Amino acid sequence: MHKGYERSRNAYLEAKHFIPGGVNSPVRAFRAVGMDPVFVERGQGAYLYDIDGNEYIDYVLSWGPLIVGHAHPDVVQAIAEYAGKGTSFGAPTLLETMMARLVTEIVPSVEVVRMVNSGTEATMSALRLSRGYTGRSKIVKFEGCYHGHADSLLIKAGSGVATLGLPDSPGVSTEVAGQTLTVPFNDLESLHLVFETYGEDIAAVIIEPVVGNMGCVLPEEGYLQGVRKLTHEYGALLIFDEVMTGFRVAYGGAQERFRIEPDLTTLGKVIGGGLPVGAYGGKREIMEMIAPSGPIYQAGTLSGNPLAMIAGYTTLKLLAQEGLYEELERKAKRLADGFYETGYELGIPVYSNYIGGMFSCFFTGEKVVDYTSAKSSDLERYAKYFREMLKRGIYLAPSQLEACFLSTVHTDEDIDRTLEASREAMKTL
Ligand code: PMP
Repeated sequence: MHKGYERSRNAYLEAKHFIPGGVNSPVRAFRAVGMDPVFVERGQGAYLYDIDGNEYIDYVLSWGPLIVGHAHPDVVQAIAEYAGKGTSFGAPTLLETMMARLVTEIVPSVEVVRMVNSGTEATMSALRLSRGYTGRSKIVKFEGCYHGHADSLLIKAGSGVATLGLPDSPGVSTEVAGQTLTVPFNDLESLHLVFETYGEDIAAVIIEPVVGNMGCVLPEEGYLQGVRKLTHEYGALLIFDEVMTGFRVAYGGAQERFRIEPDLTTLGKVIGGGLPVGAYGGKREIMEMIAPSGPIYQAGTLSGNPLAMIAGYTTLKLLAQEGLYEELERKAKRLADGFYETGYELGIPVYSNYIGGMFSCFFTGEKVVDYTSAKSSDLERYAKYFREMLKRGIYLAPSQLEACFLSTVHTDEDIDRTLEASREAMKTL
């Protein structure tokens, strides 16, 4: 029995007095689902508890990082142990090398890696590096892909920008915006055309190899290979933004799964095990251009923070298990198939995508392969569905244009309960 949202509602009213929009990141405000946000008290395993005392099966998992669930005992213990030794030094530690070595072992194309504090910092730094390395100025991104909120990447962006239906952000100068070229995802012909026109000026192509920020959208057969080939031909760097897909669609990320070697990779979310971490890495020859070994500047007071490193390291070690990603994907498939089948039975058009530990259920009859098809979804219907699911104890992404996530501690029983709730929720649509 759901206990309502009274405390959350009051907490939100108060928060709005002191925080813009009441939240520290826009999608948390639940604008796209037509209700006030739920305030969280705590999380445990696959479950989230709000301040009104409601329990939810959590498919947001802090937007991806918590692949081993909330408050995993090993992660909590590691953080506590390291916190006792001091929380930041601004000087090198053995832990940072341990972490960097582990990342290079897991992510196929990464030879050298620099730690930062968020996905945004990772992509922003990778772009600067690409421009510095190639001596070129333009970058290419894909419509509906989100790479954090750096100026040059807030062009036709997904995630909260898409969720709130915002135009390209005020505050980004036209000079900066003009350096970013955008093309549709899964459309090699458009990318080809852009290269034909601007090829000599393009420093890098940045892509979510599996998109998570317009909902979960998969690359079509041969598409990523085509992108790799074109970037090679024109001497542009290929950046795989694996902030979401890293350690999630396979241990070594989308690059392992699709066997593509990007020049640079950006990481975030899972790599920090729930603490603030990002990273960018790649070929040694390129990465050595960064200060102090090279002239391209990038720095951070808290970068490589010991608590963040040990939380991430412990999480990555927990993921090194035979069959773990197959198991995540089996569960993601159960959910995706279940959503689709119920929709079919009830005459509601549903299209679902899944891979590894991520999935989306779109309310559209179209196959979702890019931003245009993702936006063909009935956003109002999703909003109602979300609210009905929430009432039944299921916490999905509070926007149709965001992916949902699974953890290693979600059980088949949780999936059964979710699919039952989904049937009831869809009946109300
Ligand atoms: N890249 C991708 C693919 C992301 O999904 C995100 C965040 N959702 C970012 C970059 C930005 O990361 P952060 O929010 O940690 O700055």
